[in-house]
Amino acid sequence: MNNKTEIVEELKKAMEFYQELGFKYLPVKIEQKFIILEARKRGSAEVEKRESENGRGMTSELPDFRTSALKSLRDEIGDCQRCKLCKNRKNIVFGEGQAEAKIMFIGEGPGRDEDIQARPFVGEAGKLLTSLIIKLGLKREEVYIANIVKCRPPNNREPEEDEIIMCRPFVERQIEIIKPKVIVSLGKVATHALLKVKTPISKIRGNFFDYRGIPLMPTFHPAYLLRNKKDKWLTWDDMQKVLEKLKN
Ligand code: SF4
Repeated sequence: MNNKTEIVEELKKAMEFYQELGFKYLPVKIEQKFIILEARKRGSAEVEKRESENGRGMTSELPDFRTSALKSLRDEIGDCQRCKLCKNRKNIVFGEGQAEAKIMFIGEGPGRDEDIQARPFVGEAGKLLTSLIIKLGLKREEVYIANIVKCRPPNNREPEEDEIIMCRPFVERQIEIIKPKVIVSLGKVATHALLKVKTPISKIRGNFFDYRGIPLMPTFHPAYLLRNKKDKWLTWDDMQKVLEKLKN
């Protein structure tokens, strides 16, 4: 194949990738993508020149598909008014972490601290989740953390069915983009929303389920564990299974 054909093939693959995720346009400027691909194919004179000028590899400047796709999804959510949770929120809490994370933690929705900081799991329950992640030998930045609904339900009530239905497509798209090796659903709401079951979390936790080809481990929500410390070991047990799954 000549260079032009290869470039066209690469662009086609990229467009198909985004189309499957539901995007109607590429989240990078086409000229930018074209220039980068051309430079890549041409080989390295320019790359080396830029590397020596910048003191870092040009690869670090290449648009990362997953990061770009997440950014585009965030742009698409915009100042979302799709459900009634928009009325009292301060911020939309999109989610954060590594776009290529192997583990994705999914909770139910932002609380007060998360709403203020626009970051997931930063309150007391978040601290517990972070310490759990560290005990697993990981860094918080290495995983991805998101919620089923992106806006805080008033008085920290559970998200209602209509709110979940409106917001769930966003977390589904995040999962499609990140393609984690394992999903950990935190608590009843997240587990029920993703698996579309109604089984109590105490009965369903600790076993892997299939979420569109990805193993999903339901476990207790950290906020529950703050109130029921004796059950922390059960979650620890669930996480050992997650680590085992990752090793395999
Ligand atoms: S919870 Fe989701 S659907 Fe509802 S307003 Fe917020 S972002 Fe939009």
